[in-house]
Amino acid sequence: MNSFTYSRAENLETALQEKTTSLEGRFIAGGTNLLDLMKVNVEQPSHVIDIRHLPFNQITGNDAGGLRLGALATNAETAYNEQIENRYPLLVKAILAGASAQLRNRATNGGNSLQRTRCYYFYDTATACNKREPGSGCSAINGFNRIHAILGTSESCIAVHPSDMAVALAALDATVKVTGPNGERTIPFLEFHRLPGNTAHLDNNLDPDEIITSIDLPAKGFAEYNTYLKLRDRASYAFALVSVAVGLDLEGTIIKEARLALGGVAHKPWRLPEVEASLVGKEVNLENLKNAANALLAGAKGYGHNNFKIELAKRAIVRAILQAAKMEDLT
Ligand SMILES: Cc1cc2nc3c(=O)[nH]c(=O)nc-3n(C[C@H](O)[C@H](O)[C@H](O)COP(=O)(O)OP(=O)(O)OC[C@H]3O[C@@H](n4cnc5c(N)ncnc54)[C@H](O)[C@@H]3O)c2cc1C
Ligand code: SF4
Repeated sequence: MNSFTYSRAENLETALQEKTTSLEGRFIAGGTNLLDLMKVNVEQPSHVIDIRHLPFNQITGNDAGGLRLGALATNAETAYNEQIENRYPLLVKAILAGASAQLRNRATNGGNSLQRTRCYYFYDTATACNKREPGSGCSAINGFNRIHAILGTSESCIAVHPSDMAVALAALDATVKVTGPNGERTIPFLEFHRLPGNTAHLDNNLDPDEIITSIDLPAKGFAEYNTYLKLRDRASYAFALVSVAVGLDLEGTIIKEARLALGGVAHKPWRLPEVEASLVGKEVNLENLKNAANALLAGAKGYGHNNFKIELAKRAIVRAILQAAKMEDLT
């Protein structure tokens, strides 16, 4: 690891000031991703600003009748919060499907959405990677790409975003509150992460000198009908090959509202509101669900080793909706 300086921010103002004056500086929260990346020289900050002690670790009500998750509340504090358990069980399922108990005790809500891709080549500084070194090329496109994206890819990058929590937040229509030198702004979760285009090095739309202070959940939590289905190589401690977050409103077997977000398939949680709209008024049956799955995967492209993900994702969508609707006996 390279040498770097460290400071502990006493308040938001000093944290922002230090970040502005230290271009190569990085905030550190739980450190479970940043430190790993520093150890393999992917991240080489000159200065590390510890934000762990800033007062953004509460879970409180918000003006929209929903809940505000402090950016520095841990994943465990969030998943085991009674209000989250009662009102947003989809979020609980997604968080508990990720990492391990030890990591969730340390990892924070803000850091979770900002964790970087698990693309093997991104971690290997001996290989070309546009995300790590813009303009160097992408080793994954013609390399071993079993875990890579099938939707929204570009010639410059086919990496996926690895967060489970982010997939549920996308389905729930969360918003991200950030503060920077120019004040506060709110970013809808669906616009927070980016597709790679020709700027693969940018994972999201947070400015380098901004800090996430909270993630807001709207009042509606789809508490009755929901699921997070995560398909992976091992039953625990593994990232998603494909995951599906589903929230439904049902009247009998008729869909009144649907939210579907996919993980493990794109550079960001993948959601197409027009596909969700097409399910409204329809019955939960295999034909309607297969049509929705095909529409969500329209335009999917495999890169060889990951071709299997296209069919896997379609089947996972159908199964997840049935699971959320408590109608698994239809499979
Ligand atoms: C072995 C292992 C297995 C894992 N498995 C999974 C899994 O299955 N599913 C899953 O979703 N995740 C998984 N993770 C990832 C883990 O969830 C993330 O590392 C964690 O959520 C990151 O949070 P953190 O607070 O530790 O972030 P840090 O490492 O502290 O920070 C990550 C990045 O975010 C920036 N940052 C942090 N907080 C803020 C803020 N408030 N404002 C602005 N910038 C900020 C930092 O500068 C850094 O760039 C795994 C991790 C490991 C090590
Ligand atoms: S897929 Fe993206 S992260 Fe992986 S090697 Fe290519 S450019 Fe780098």
